[in-house]
Amino acid sequence: MPTRFIFITGGVVSSLGKGLASASLGALLQARGYKVRLRKLDPYLNVDPGTMNPTQHGEVFVTDDGAETDLDLGHYERFTDVSARRSDSVSTGQIYSTLLTKERRGDYLGGTVQVIPHVTDLIKEFILRDTDDEDFILCEIGGTVGDIEGLPFLEAIRQLGWELGRERVMYIHLTLVPYIAAAKELKTKPTQHSVKELRMIGIQPDILLCRAEREIPLAERRKIALFCNIREEAVIAGLDVNSIYEVPRRYSEQGFDKQVLKIFGIEDIGKPDLKKWDDILERVQNPKGEITVAIVGKYTGIGDAYKSLCEALDHAGIANKVKVNIRWVDAAGFENQDVGKMLADVDAVLVPGGFGERGVNGKIAAINYARTHNKPYLGICFGMQLAVIEYARNVLGVKDAASTEFAPYVDGNGKGPLVGLMTEWQRGSVVETRSRGGDLGGTMRLGAYECDIASGSLAEKIYGNARISERHRHRYEVNMQYREEFEKSGMWFSGVSPEGHLPEIVELKKHPWFVGVQFHPELKSRPFAPHPLFASFVKAALAEDKKHKKAA
Ligand code: GLN
Repeated sequence: MPTRFIFITGGVVSSLGKGLASASLGALLQARGYKVRLRKLDPYLNVDPGTMNPTQHGEVFVTDDGAETDLDLGHYERFTDVSARRSDSVSTGQIYSTLLTKERRGDYLGGTVQVIPHVTDLIKEFILRDTDDEDFILCEIGGTVGDIEGLPFLEAIRQLGWELGRERVMYIHLTLVPYIAAAKELKTKPTQHSVKELRMIGIQPDILLCRAEREIPLAERRKIALFCNIREEAVIAGLDVNSIYEVPRRYSEQGFDKQVLKIFGIEDIGKPDLKKWDDILERVQNPKGEITVAIVGKYTGIGDAYKSLCEALDHAGIANKVKVNIRWVDAAGFENQDVGKMLADVDAVLVPGGFGERGVNGKIAAINYARTHNKPYLGICFGMQLAVIEYARNVLGVKDAASTEFAPYVDGNGKGPLVGLMTEWQRGSVVETRSRGGDLGGTMRLGAYECDIASGSLAEKIYGNARISERHRHRYEVNMQYREEFEKSGMWFSGVSPEGHLPEIVELKKHPWFVGVQFHPELKSRPFAPHPLFASFVKAALAEDKKHKKAA
């Protein structure tokens, strides 16, 4: 079967769940036995989201091959378990950066470089390159139809429909059908306008996904179908659900995957096998208990800024059959407050990845509390570096222990800062380098690196493996030269990079569960395969919860 391309656009407003709809369709096609890959095309001008504030754009999702991408790629991975690649995410910034390099090199010599055909050609190249033997490539176009910067992308996908033929290209459009309380009616006009906008640029959608708060009556569906040139069965309602794991099942019930196959002319009368989704939903809906984890970070209350983290905790809840509640603690807000008051009743403490000075003292105070009160602690990336710093300050007595990220290094003991900028490290047999004062974009230690785990450690028990691979995104490293002092007093560098230069995991010997990891385990957690670190962390939190209840 030739690879078919499905383009998903959005209309009316943003935040309708285009990423989840795309991921769900991927999962549904997979559940019918097809091979899928998902891609994201983002019209913004940043080269990648790596330099964007998470409050604006949500978390930066990192792929194995070290690309900093949109958080939707996280949804794709979690729903389909297909590891995303650098080539699965592109932005206008990347396209233009390639284009301008080519222009300077003289590739277009003599010609006038234009949006059509040069930008659109590059977009098409991106869509078609680096594919395997997938049956379906799903491409989600970021933004909303009508955005100025989205136009070249829409033109490119229109051209592909023409070039590859409609047997191989399909357009799905996601819109909103709002309920107007005063009129007690669902309104179809915004959808009609959105489709009109698409058709003006030459794209006739094949399927409409209509997000709505309530059931869309047949009359309204017919109206949408008639005015938008779409068969009635291809107007699919996307109703609000309680859990994201319900989305594939609900869309399938509405005939989404069936319509996709039908439009492509693929005879497939069977049903997708959704057992694993139903099993998960069963567990999510019937937890046997609950625990509370405090996340001490900078972007509290903005779930998207820690999307994969929240998902990984949910997965760990699924693994332990409990509901995981999150208490957001603003690290910048409690330096001078009594941390005990904020953390005494939580079952575990987590300090996630982060950058910069703001909130550092609060995070260190929280780590200190977890360490001295035997609360399960998971420190991720910055949370690991700060755990090492907290230990140096309060156990080893090095009062000014710090990272050069937030404090200048002054002491001259010859070993350098405890946490500092690495200018050189190794990936396999390749030495990678970074220059001080270089670009900020894309210059971190990014992507998958291996780590060797010490035998007899908690990390080994958790992973059940001596060598693991996890994804990284950071600029600074814990300085290996201090290892001995730490290990002598009970903080074990239980995971190190294969050549032995970089600490990857630290743990405390005399603590029920205290682990810091330099990498981001949350990026590899899946609902069907909860990450062992998170599963173990939540299990430890559950034990802490039982202790509380007993004491009460
Ligand atoms: N700010 C730290 C660094 O760059 C940690 C990064 C992170 O937590 N992702 O090394």
